[in-house]
Order: sequence, then structure tokens, then C-alpha cells
Amino acid sequence: MKTKPHVLILGGNFAGLQVARHIRDHVKPEDASVTVVDKRSYLLFIPNILMEILENKNPDSSMQLPLAPVLDKDETRFIQAEVLDIDVESKKVTIQPTERPGTTTDVLTYDYLVIALGNRLAFDKIDGFAEHGHTVSDGFYGNKLRHYLHEGGYKGGPIAIGSARFHQGTKGKLDFVPMAKAACEGPPVEIALSLASWMKHHEMGGPEKVTIFTPADLIAEDAGKNIVKQLLEIAGGMGFGYKNKLEDIKQIGKDGIEFANGESIEAELKIILPDWVPHEFLKGLPICDEKGFVITNKQLKNPDYPEVYAAGDAAACTVPKLGSIGHHQSYIVARQLARDLGALSDEEADSELYSPEVICYGDMGDGKAFYIHSNVWYGGDIEILKMGKLYYDLKVAFKTSYFAMGGKVPYWQWKMGSWMGDKIL
Ligand SMILES: Cc1cc2nc3c(=O)[nH]c(=O)nc-3n(C[C@H](O)[C@H](O)[C@H](O)COP(=O)(O)OP(=O)(O)OC[C@H]3O[C@@H](n4cnc5c(N)ncnc54)[C@H](O)[C@@H]3O)c2cc1C
Repeated sequence: MKTKPHVLILGGNFAGLQVARHIRDHVKPEDASVTVVDKRSYLLFIPNILMEILENKNPDSSMQLPLAPVLDKDETRFIQAEVLDIDVESKKVTIQPTERPGTTTDVLTYDYLVIALGNRLAFDKIDGFAEHGHTVSDGFYGNKLRHYLHEGGYKGGPIAIGSARFHQGTKGKLDFVPMAKAACEGPPVEIALSLASWMKHHEMGGPEKVTIFTPADLIAEDAGKNIVKQLLEIAGGMGFGYKNKLEDIKQIGKDGIEFANGESIEAELKIILPDWVPHEFLKGLPICDEKGFVITNKQLKNPDYPEVYAAGDAAACTVPKLGSIGHHQSYIVARQLARDLGALSDEEADSELYSPEVICYGDMGDGKAFYIHSNVWYGGDIEILKMGKLYYDLKVAFKTSYFAMGGKVPYWQWKMGSWMGDKIL
């Protein structure tokens, strides 16, 4: 009996889950087996953790989508395990099951591999972060900040919000992807706006206490200069402080942050986005650039190992490290895999190749959000910034429908979301 081709997907968050689910739009279980490996048993809906923190709700209760039940629907296997090593020559992946300690390692083989493992968020590389830093990137840090804000830890002093320096690779870089000094700067802007609103409602002041900082020449430069100019004018008018070109965080202390360029910011509360660093076992692999990000072409496959794909933050071409870019890429990867498996023609598979757009809904507090849709940073002509209550509703609704659909957002709905954002509201 002929064995079915095996698609192995490493990582089951935004990029990995979406690829896994959309392969099944084209390829039936009897024609290919699909396996997803993730060390966690659930998808973590990172972008909305901040909203939960400010409303004093536990993000662990609302932002986790269990993976096995949704993948079962597609007859896709889920393995809860840590990926330890990838051998692209022998097409083998070494894993260690993480459900219980004491497991033995195992080896999985593949015909097609999708690397959707995200990156390490390198808080551990920031001197003083453990003692004096806060962030909103997961349930642990989210709840730490929630308790600090809502249980009297924060006394109403100055606040600094910004990013450590990002270190992008250059080997095999796609021409239209610029070099960035910060990995993901929508969140610092969102945190600043919504936290200032929270402070106002808790009679602790407002924007005048908050300084937003960036290692780069311009914060959130991937949104395009005109949009950032508008955002900075609005933020400046509200009283926010802004510091740029700080290069990197040197040290976080009890009373503030020192930067690599010699400047410092006084702050009681320091909310940090770190460097996005590739996983150690990826560094040195022939599919990766000099930093460990996976090199791909516009089909999101590695040029030298065309059976290896990357999507989401793990891919070198995903800059900024934005979930919406990984989400969009996953439709492309699913179609490419479907072609490899004989379910789509070349024309159908290549109907859309990677062409990045920044799409970002950011909470501003008071039931409002900003919406950015832009590709000018990559040489395109879309440059849209809007704000209002309907965008907040869309941000909340996206999470609700994402969970209801088990992470399988139909392509038309994804396109319709940005079309509505651009045209109607
Ligand atoms: C505070 C914050 C706010 C953000 N807000 C937004 C936003 O509003 N909009 C937006 O578009 N993006 C936002 N982002 C960015 C977004 O979260 C990421 O771009 C997105 O999560 C990337 O998805 P991914 O699937 O590529 O990687 P990840 O989400 O990082 O998922 C990687 C998966 O791989 C698993 N994994 C990692 N290593 C291993 C291993 N060795 N073995 C097994 N499994 C492993 C992890 O458990 C995880 O499930 C935000 C990020 C942060 C930190």
C-alpha cells in the first residue's frame, strides 16, 4: 500500500494553526497526513492580552484556544512536544513530548515541513528586566502587570513604553523587505494609548506621564512615514513624551531605563517589547540566515530545500513580526502545499505570492481603536489610518470569530476585514 505524503507543521499558534487548517481546504485526509507539533496545547491569542489586563480580567481564562479539538476535526494529528532539532538533509525532526517530565525523545519524518515556531522573545537578555520590567506578551507577564496595576503596586509615577533593538539577518533577504531596528512597534503605541486612558479612569493622570521610546529613527516605521507622522502629532497633542534613536536598552533599574546611546528615561513602570531572537537549534541550519531566521522566496519555501516552508515570525521575510502578516502568509503556504500534493495547479497556487501589508488594530482605550493598513514601507501605495469605536468592535469581534471558527478564518473573510476597514467605516 502506498504511504500518504506527510506534512509536518512545527508550531501551532497563528501561522502554524492557520496553515494546518487551510491545507484541508484543498487536501483530504486520505490524500495526505498532517501533523502539528507544539510544546503548548493551546493557541495563545497574544494581541488581545492587553485589553484583558486593563479590564482586570485573567488572560489565561480567555486567550487560550485548545489545539487538539480543532485539529481533530480535520483529522490532523497534534503532538504536544518541544522541537529539539531539524535535519533538513534526512528530513527528520527530533522532538521531546512536554506533557509530562521524563519523556524520551522521538524522531518524526516528513515529506513537507512548515516551520511556524515563532521566535524567542528575549526578555532574558535585558539586564534588569526580571526585577524591574513589565510586558504584555503572555499570561504570566500579563497577570503580573494586571496585579501590579490593579492591586496597588503602581503608585502613579512616570511610565516608559518601548522596544529593545531587533537584530535582523541579511542572508537571502527578499529585496522588498527593509531592515528594521524594532521587531514589532504597533504594541508599544497601543499600550501607551490604552494605558493612558486607564490612568485617566483611575485618576492617576494621563498621557503626560507616559514616554514612548524606540531604538529606531522613527517608531513603527513599517506603518509608513505619513501614518507615523499623524500618530506622533496626535500623541504629542495629547501630551505623550517620545524618544527615538535610543539604539538599545542597556539596563532597566528601579527608577528608569538606561539606553545604549547614553540617554535615560525616568520611570516607575517600564513596559518593554524585547528583541525577537530565533530559536537556538535553527542557528547554523542551511535553511536559515546568519541570525537563524528561515530564508524563503515569495512562495514562502526555502530556495535550496523547496520542501521546507516558513510562515509567521520564524520566517526571515516577516518584518515586522506581526501576527497579521503570519496569518496572511499561511493562506499562501496552504495553497503551495496543495500544489505540491497535486490538489492545485501552478496557476492556482501562485495566484497570490508573498507581498507584505501591515494590518493592525490597536486598542486606544475609551472603547476606541486605531486601524492601520499600509504597504508603503515595502514600496506599495496603501497607506490608511483610521480611528474610532467601530475599529475597537472589529478588534474584539475578530478574536471572538477566530475562536468560534477554531482559527480557520476563511480567506474571503480575511480580505473582507481589511476591505471594510479601508472603505466602509
Ligand atoms: C505584546 C504583543 C502584542 C502584539 N500585538 C499584535 C497585534 O495587535 N496584531 C498583530 O498582528 N500582531 C501582534 N503581535 C505579534 C504577534 O503576536 C506575532 O507576530 C504572532 O504571534 C506570530 O505568530 P507565529 O505563529 O509566527 O509565532 P508564535 O505566535 O510565536 O507561535 C509560535 C508557536 O510555536 C511554539 N513553539 C516555539 N518553540 C517551540 C519548540 N521548540 N517546540 C515546539 N513548539 C514551539 C510556541 O509554543 C507557539 O505556539 C503582538 C506581539 C506581542 C508580543
